[in-house]
Amino acid sequence: MEPAGKNNGNSPQRYDAIIIGAGISGMFQLYRLRELGMSVKVFETGTNIGGTWYWNRYPGARFDSESYSYHYSFSEEVLDEWDWSEHFAAQPEILRYLNFVADKFDLRSDIQFRTRVKSANYDEQNNHWEVCTDQGETFRSHLLISATGPLSAAQMPSIPGIDDFQGASFHTSQWPHEPVDFTNKRVGIIGTGATGVQVIQTIASQVGSLTVFQRDPNYCAPLHNRKIDKAEMKEIRAKYPEYFARCDETFGSFLHGSDPRMSLEVSEEERLAFFEELYAMPGFAIWLGNFADTFTDQKANDLLTEFMKQKIRERINDPVVAEKLIPTDHGFGLRRVPMETNYYEAYNQDNVDLIDVNEVTITRITQTGISTSEGDHEFDIIIYATGFNAVVGALERIEITGVGGQSLKEKWADGPRTYLGVQTNGFPNFFTIVGPHNAATFCNIPRCIEQNVEWLTGAIKYMRDNRCERMEASVDAEDAWTKHVFDAAQETLFPTVDSWFMNVNRNLPEKKKTFLLYTGGGPYYREKCEAVAANGYEGFALE
Ligand code: NAP
Repeated sequence: MEPAGKNNGNSPQRYDAIIIGAGISGMFQLYRLRELGMSVKVFETGTNIGGTWYWNRYPGARFDSESYSYHYSFSEEVLDEWDWSEHFAAQPEILRYLNFVADKFDLRSDIQFRTRVKSANYDEQNNHWEVCTDQGETFRSHLLISATGPLSAAQMPSIPGIDDFQGASFHTSQWPHEPVDFTNKRVGIIGTGATGVQVIQTIASQVGSLTVFQRDPNYCAPLHNRKIDKAEMKEIRAKYPEYFARCDETFGSFLHGSDPRMSLEVSEEERLAFFEELYAMPGFAIWLGNFADTFTDQKANDLLTEFMKQKIRERINDPVVAEKLIPTDHGFGLRRVPMETNYYEAYNQDNVDLIDVNEVTITRITQTGISTSEGDHEFDIIIYATGFNAVVGALERIEITGVGGQSLKEKWADGPRTYLGVQTNGFPNFFTIVGPHNAATFCNIPRCIEQNVEWLTGAIKYMRDNRCERMEASVDAEDAWTKHVFDAAQETLFPTVDSWFMNVNRNLPEKKKTFLLYTGGGPYYREKCEAVAANGYEGFALE
């Protein structure tokens, strides 16, 4: 390990570790590496910490996980001092929380803001990473850690004329810091994923008119959010250990874990009563607390899907609109379920129109709005809720080269190959938090981020204690993990549906269809990581 080296004459500044990204994972990794006495530099494109919760300031942005399951668990002081005001907190509160943590531990002093990492190249001879930024600076580090987030590379739609529009337009994840006034505005929105749903339900009552351009509808489920008062907060705080323990037990590290019963094992009456019960519960209960076979058996999935279709029909006044909002190409929960509060009711308002772009094609964005095959729509504001180049996008945007000048993008051209989702062969001392094929990709993310960071910190400490300078996943370990990831995915219905889980983004047709997540479950993943560590980081070459 390097001595805590700083500037050395005119040569690039050196650090023990460089972390890319100052979101939830970068902040915590910085905290842990500082504890090891390492010199660390974090680069962050934004002007402040927060990652996802810094960028996604769009109206309605809020947690889909219970607030008290989403926060850090590592500091008793933070747990004691921070109160949540809602069961599913909104973005401003979440960002305040992350700033509270950053202030408390003085994290910003090691973070360089307004800086995008452009390239990172492994220098084999010197066993260090050379990192270049868009500020024209070069830095060196022994270790390189990406904390870039799975959903951070914003993706605009591939529609001609986007720059022609003369009104205000925003991608939801690049939302302005100043409030946007929707009063009496004619607003068009493209995209009805989890983000679009949150925006639509929030602004429908504020705008003059709202036109929703929908390609594939999603099954949405009620969030059932509510306030937390002081007395309830006290009760919640007393249950933190129980909540964290519960998250450790469940498949996705949420408070909701599947019911052990099979859908077809119970009577129809019992099944429907259970669906109703879950539909009335807050958060992901209906998605992740359902019968055990919901996402592994098509027949089981069909039963729940039918129930959810009926719920949509019950909530929409116009049956034609209702049918447009019901997915026909996939079952409930096989794509990420958007959580909603009066989303469907928004379509009952006179000022909200739904355009199915499979029937009415968007031809271009014009100076004044959106042109379609059936005429022009004039807007004051256009919102692009069109999502991300998911999971691999943020890494693809950095030119990363490893041993022999091999590019990461080329290595992963047919899909990522990793060991435990934390490393890939040929890129020594480069680690990915929430990397592809890591359990953190299908997870209540801070829970898995903490696991990723704790495990990686342990590995780095092991390197130091054992005087190892280089850690690299072996080809065999990478092959075995990649096969395990695909085998686990094949046991579920997720690969049967196109979504960002499958690396499908119709704005990026060159992307290869492949599974990006890990569906073996949090408990197995953690066990596997612990066993690897206990066996001297089995599967990694340590020199
Ligand atoms: P998304 O799920 O990828 O949705 C993008 C939407 O844009 C889709 O409806 C897509 O339609 C549409 N779209 C893209 N290009 C289009 C085009 N050219 N024409 C028409 N429609 C187009 O992205 P997202 O909604 O930002 O959500 C991404 C993920 O972020 C979620 O799955 C979730 O994991 C996370 N998220 C979390 C929260 C939370 O926890 N509170 C909130 C929001 C998002 P198609 O489906 O037809 O491609």
